[in-house]
Amino acid sequence: MARLCVNNIAFDADLIVFDKDGTLIDFDHYWGQRIRRCGQRLLQQVDGNEALGRALFASLGYEPDTGRTDGDGPLATATMAKIYTIATVVLYQHGIGWTQAEEHVQTAFIACAGATPTSELLRELGPVSELFQEIVRAGARVAIITSDDHHTAAETLSLINALDWVSAIVGGDDDLAMKPAPDAFLHVCDRLDTPPHRAIMVGDTIADLSMAQRAGAGASVGVLSGVCSAAELAPYADFIIPSIEAIQVVGREKKTN
Ligand SMILES: [Mg+2]
Repeated sequence: MARLCVNNIAFDADLIVFDKDGTLIDFDHYWGQRIRRCGQRLLQQVDGNEALGRALFASLGYEPDTGRTDGDGPLATATMAKIYTIATVVLYQHGIGWTQAEEHVQTAFIACAGATPTSELLRELGPVSELFQEIVRAGARVAIITSDDHHTAAETLSLINALDWVSAIVGGDDDLAMKPAPDAFLHVCDRLDTPPHRAIMVGDTIADLSMAQRAGAGASVGVLSGVCSAAELAPYADFIIPSIEAIQVVGREKKTN
């Protein structure tokens, strides 16, 4: 059990579940660069015009001119499989047959968007590894639930030296109903033998916090380091904090070994 302190309120938890993008990793730095690069690659592949480019980014919930991502849009919350389907639909709507559209997305978009992340794309939103260590040393566990693919999440955590402290990962390709459905949260609780009311969710989107509420989580903590505003998160959050840096682990058990 770990004793955490958020906004000067202390509470105990056995499991802290984190979202990845916008919570641990700078969303815009990672996905902004990645979606622009992969979108351009797809446009080149199909010899697409400006209108197709605009439709593609708009359908994904991303504005390339401003770099703004819609906090309740596909890029912010959907699984990679759904994002690939959206890209295919956009090509189809612009006159490319479905079979060919799927092939183009496979070769130009998936190969790019699903590639192993590189360190220059990863900007941490706080001392992730240190926070995870403190939580584990205080006697609780850490899990990750992300819409990104499982292997990408594991590779990202490894690159920021945080993977060793994580007890469970659920990715968007893990065959569970994803956020805001409660399934992934309940799955992690079940796997780590923790009642949902002893688990806390930390995330940057409505989908993260809504999932936790539906699962009966002990608390849902919204962070403003991602794609949603305080006003958007407020109806779903027990606490709203600027970033994971505002989470303090105040109760630590002495390490025994
Ligand atoms: Mg997120």
